[in-house]
This record gives sequence, structure tokens and C-alpha cells, in this order.
Amino acid sequence: MSSAEQCDVLIAGAGPAGLAAALFLIKCRPALAGRIFALEKARHPRPKVCAGGLVPKTLAALDHLGVPLDVPSVEVIAGTARTEIGSVILPPGDVLCTIVRRDQFDSSLAAAARRAGVRIVENCRVDQVEEGADSVRVRSEQGVFEAPILIGADGSGSRVRRAIFNPDREFIGRGLMIDLPVSAESSVEFRDHILRFDFACVAAGVRGYAWSFPCLINGQPHLNIGIYDQTADRPLSNKLLIPELRKAFAELDIPGDSQRFRAFPIRWFDAEARFASRRVLLAGDAAGVDPLMGEGISYAFEHGRAAAGSISRFLDGDRNALTDYDHVLRHGSIGRKLSRLAFAARKFYGPRHRIYFRMAHLSRKAQQIGVNWYNGARMLDEMPARRLIARWITAVLLRRSVR
Ligand SMILES: Cc1cc2nc3c(=O)[nH]c(=O)nc-3n(C[C@H](O)[C@H](O)[C@H](O)COP(=O)(O)OP(=O)(O)OC[C@H]3O[C@@H](n4cnc5c(N)ncnc54)[C@H](O)[C@@H]3O)c2cc1C
Repeated sequence: MSSAEQCDVLIAGAGPAGLAAALFLIKCRPALAGRIFALEKARHPRPKVCAGGLVPKTLAALDHLGVPLDVPSVEVIAGTARTEIGSVILPPGDVLCTIVRRDQFDSSLAAAARRAGVRIVENCRVDQVEEGADSVRVRSEQGVFEAPILIGADGSGSRVRRAIFNPDREFIGRGLMIDLPVSAESSVEFRDHILRFDFACVAAGVRGYAWSFPCLINGQPHLNIGIYDQTADRPLSNKLLIPELRKAFAELDIPGDSQRFRAFPIRWFDAEARFASRRVLLAGDAAGVDPLMGEGISYAFEHGRAAAGSISRFLDGDRNALTDYDHVLRHGSIGRKLSRLAFAARKFYGPRHRIYFRMAHLSRKAQQIGVNWYNGARMLDEMPARRLIARWITAVLLRRSVR
């Protein structure tokens, strides 16, 4: 048997989930500096198909980790969402979303992780994973690595997940996107600091929405335009998605040629899946993220935080700590929120979607609560469902602020 390089914690994948887990771990156990290896198949800065929208909860996590957001970004403070029933306007307020380019953001996060003492082994694809009673062995492009614990943070197509959890069902949707140069003066997204969503494509059978986000590429204003479809069993073709995207933003010159678009899978949350075994935890897209909007960066950080907490307790001798991770992802605040988003996706993208879009139109206050909950503001996502619903109903019926 080939000799293996040893460390305390191995991570497959150095994207946001793997890097966040490493940073949270070192923050709670500084002695792990130099003892955590992240194996990454690419080399930072590497391209990543993503709109790069960071919700406030992600910025709060960066702040907690002491990692500055030191890459070019565009802040938006308002939004519009067009539906079959009419448009919902989110009026200007606090920062709703901060838009970055993922190659720059992930590379900056990797640099912060290296500074903290994480060893990132690049150009090192994980090929095989074997779980033993007390350790996990990983065969990679750069040899064999062994550790008592492995975090599978290798994205939607996770090899770790396939090797260890052998899932019998997969919920994987898709995002398709293109970047278009614009003039900042004539683009409403830049002028009014807004992002635009369009859910009208639900009527055509898309289980998702189209978006237009302002962003900077090489310092130049661009729109990142895309369409998300969560359909897992019969993925919709570009032939259907691209015309729906062009319809959503008819005033923009979006090409019809599918070669100009880039697509990537998004694994969404399945409450019945397993997220932890004896020695392996899944995080980020490998575990499954938001089914409603396909937002995954904040969950990458939340999973990273939860994984670090469980691993730290495990290293202190708590043998049940890794099983607890499974519980947190299913039934803790992360699992509850993702289950609610899965419920919302079934309603808003299901056959009775018109009824639910009509309900969403009822009250501006209720819309604001929905957005605050989504963005993780005021700890609304940690609130029990009954209290959250009571607040929402109060807002709709009494038309008063319930913050
Ligand atoms: C078109 C589109 C738009 C999106 N827009 C947003 C958005 O605006 N906001 C948002 O929050 N989310 C968005 N998402 C989702 C978001 O991109 C993901 O949820 C997020 O990247 C998950 O982070 P992660 O670290 O789990 O996975 P990833 O970012 O995919 O990172 C996984 C890492 O593992 C590496 N890797 C993969 N396989 C291996 C292997 N075998 N061995 C070693 N390394 C490996 C990869 O190279 C990569 O670096 C979007 C997704 C798509 C497709």
C-alpha cells in the first residue's frame, strides 16, 4: 500500500464551502494551523460559473472570520421581481446583495485561508475516497492523503458524496448565464443600484426565474444575466431556457446562440439525504443548497461553520459530534430554512403558482419580511416557523411594521 501524507483534517475542494470550513476550524482551534489540507482540482484564480451575489449573511460570516471583502464589487439596495400577476418592487433600503466575480472572490478567500495556515494543494483532483474505522484515505492526482476526518466540499458533482454516501436520488438543477457589457449611465441596474428578477418563465414550465445583476469585469460595467431551473428529473434544454431569458429582458441584446452561454449544475437540498458518515461530512453544493433561488454561497459558509463546530467537538472526544452535524443539516436552523425554501419552490414553481404569486403581492411589509428572512437579517431564519408565520400574517392583515 502506498504511503500517505497525513494531516488532521482533509478537505476535498477549495471553493467557498471548503475554505469557509477551514477558516472556521482554525478560528475555533488555532492549533490546527498547518494541519488542514484542502485538495483543489483547479488553481486559483479559477473560473466559476456563478452570478456572484453575496447576501448580507455571507458578509456577516466574512466579518466574523476577519476576512475583508477586498475584491471589486457592486452593491445593490433595491430590486424588482416581475411575475405573471404583476411586478413586486423592493424599495431602496439596506444593502440587499453585494455582487462579486467568483474567480476573484474565491481566490481572495483562498489567500485568507493560506494566511491562516491552511495548506491548499492545487491541481490536485480527488479521485477515490476510502473510509476506514478511524481514518479516511484519499487518492488524488498528487498522491495519497490520509486524515481522521474528511470534508467533501467538492461542489454539485461531488465525488466524495458518490463514493461514501452512494445516493439513490439526486436533486440537481441548473443555472445558465452570460455577461453583457453595458453603459453604467443607461443601465437601470447601475443607475438605481438594483437587481432584477423575472418569474414569468414559470408559466412556460421553468421551475425558476431569470435574473439581471450589475457587476464589474476588469473594472468595466457588465450585466450578469441568467436563468435558473431547478427541474431535476427532466432538465430543460437551452432551446427552451434561452428564449425565456431573452423574453424576460427583451430590451437587452441577449444573443440566441447557446455557445455564448455558460451553464453549471446546482445541487439543491434533499431533507432525506445523509450529510455525515463516521468520518466524512458534506458541505456546500456537495450537501445541497437553496432550492428556490439556487443561492449557495451563504450555505457554503453556514455548512462550513457547522462542520467546524462538529469537528472541533469530535476532536475534544465527543464521539456523537459528527452525527450531530447530520442532524443540524436536516433539522437545525440550516435544515429548517432549506426545507421551507423547498416548500416555497414546490408552491411557486408548481401547477398553482399563480395563487402563490398573488399571495406574495398582498403586502409590501410581508414582502419585506420575506426578503429579510431570506437574507438572514435579524435572525429571522432562526425563529420558529409559527412565530415567523404569525409575524407575516400580522403584516398582511394589519399592514403594520412587525420588525
Ligand atoms: C449560473 C449560476 C449562478 C449562481 N449564482 C449565485 C449567486 O448569485 N449567489 C449565490 O450565493 N450562489 C449562486 N450560485 C450557486 C453557487 O455558485 C454555489 O452554491 C457555490 O459555488 C457553492 O460553493 P461550494 O464551495 O460548495 O462549491 P464550488 O464553488 O463548486 O467549489 C467546489 C470546489 O471543488 C473543486 N473540485 C470539484 N471536484 C473536485 C475534485 N474531485 N477534487 C478536488 N477538487 C474538486 C472545484 O474546482 C471547486 O473549486 C450560482 C450557481 C450557478 C450555476
